[in-house]
Amino acid sequence: MAAETSTAERDRTDKSPETTDRESDNAKPSSGEAKPASRAEVSNLDIVRHYFDRATEKMGLREDLRTVFWSPYREVTVQIPVKLSDGDVHVYSGYRIQHNGARGPYKGGIRFHPEVDIDEVRALASLMTWKTAIAGVPYGGAKGGVNCPAGDLEPKEVQAIARSFMDKIEKVLGPTRDIPAPDVNTNAQVMAWFMDEYGKLHGHTPAIVTGKPIELEGSHGREAATGRGCVYMFREAAPHLGLSPASTTFAVQGFGNVGSWAARIMQQLGCKMVAVSDASGAIHSEDGIDADDLYAFVKDGGKLPDFEGVDSIDPDDLIGVECDVFIPAALGGMIHEGNADKMRCRMLIEGANSPTTPAADEILKDKDVYVIPDVMANAGGVVVSYFEWVQNLQHFRWEEREVNDKLGTIMRRAYREVSARGREEGIPLREAAYLVGIERVVEAARTRGYVD
Ligand code: NAD
Repeated sequence: MAAETSTAERDRTDKSPETTDRESDNAKPSSGEAKPASRAEVSNLDIVRHYFDRATEKMGLREDLRTVFWSPYREVTVQIPVKLSDGDVHVYSGYRIQHNGARGPYKGGIRFHPEVDIDEVRALASLMTWKTAIAGVPYGGAKGGVNCPAGDLEPKEVQAIARSFMDKIEKVLGPTRDIPAPDVNTNAQVMAWFMDEYGKLHGHTPAIVTGKPIELEGSHGREAATGRGCVYMFREAAPHLGLSPASTTFAVQGFGNVGSWAARIMQQLGCKMVAVSDASGAIHSEDGIDADDLYAFVKDGGKLPDFEGVDSIDPDDLIGVECDVFIPAALGGMIHEGNADKMRCRMLIEGANSPTTPAADEILKDKDVYVIPDVMANAGGVVVSYFEWVQNLQHFRWEEREVNDKLGTIMRRAYREVSARGREEGIPLREAAYLVGIERVVEAARTRGYVD
């Protein structure tokens, strides 16, 4: 299937329970973006399922247990009616999916995006289960989402959606049950609204969400954590490819939380960003694009393609830019059968969840691209979320340096354990990561007596 038709395919799944005047808005990408880069024909769920099947087959996990560990424990779907500034009530769908809680309370972000659907949330919840196990933090896996066009809404509208969603899912949440966090189009402010709404019913409970603002018991270092974690991965893997930061070039797809922090921290190390995109377009410069200046420009309301001194390029061409490291940090399925062959990087660090389809993964293997998979590469966010939760439960605060050091210890450990497993078995990092994660979850479930 052509990549262009595939985007439309995905849009068809993004329906509110009721048709509204905003329906046509839902069909277009958020943030008023121009032509976005193409996405794959396979869903995030197909992608995660493929890697899960491959690992469980290699482990020799019994068929009945595969069903237990693949299917989610609990799925909640709710209606979110909200009056928008056009005077109409619009109805969105909200999901919270708790995939597996064998290793601890459910943990996972909440995404606001018109393309959110239940299968995508299932896929992301399952990824969280393996991710927390690979990182070795005591959580299970969950995910949530609302199919609203958050990028096109006013802050007060986003707030109304956040509060309504929390009201409807609070019964399955709790600091020892399920702890949400930010994801695409949800940030520290949205977490503050969630905490406030939960607090109206349960009293002040900062440990109910992570990724909160610093002034509301958020953790130092949380906002940067996922991007910083990706850079820790680069530092571990660089010697393996003979890369030194001073001569490393990189490109970033998606300049939001994960992408902009990864870019700025890579730049601090001495690496040079040569191309970057967001939903509004893509830019390229062989002389380098200053990540700090671009961040300030975008934060002040500038459109990424209008950044001065660089060339504007077709977002579809970003993937073919020559660089040492490519960091996808936007949505799932952006590296697919139709474009993977164009890639000219040596290392791929998956900041986004499920950015690479199985077919693209095979192509990258043939091209000898060293892939650091999402389940490990982007675990920095949940690791520092864990630190935030620990601080909240004890009502004290660590300094940023302490948070970053502890994050580094965990990310390095994860990389070393997974790469050692990969070497032992002669398999790529992704397969090794899934093996490590699934084995840990199965062991926890067995030890609890949940399965035999
Ligand atoms: P975000 O909303 O802050 O940023 C997303 C970025 O992607 C924005 O710059 C947006 O413009 C851009 N984008 C959207 N569509 C695009 C397209 N078609 N082409 C290019 N860019 C596009 O979200 P985020 O929190 O940075 O999350 C990004 C990815 O990282 C997601 O896959 C998310 O699940 C994953 N992730 C996030 C965290 C976290 O802590 N925030 C943790 C783990 C994984």
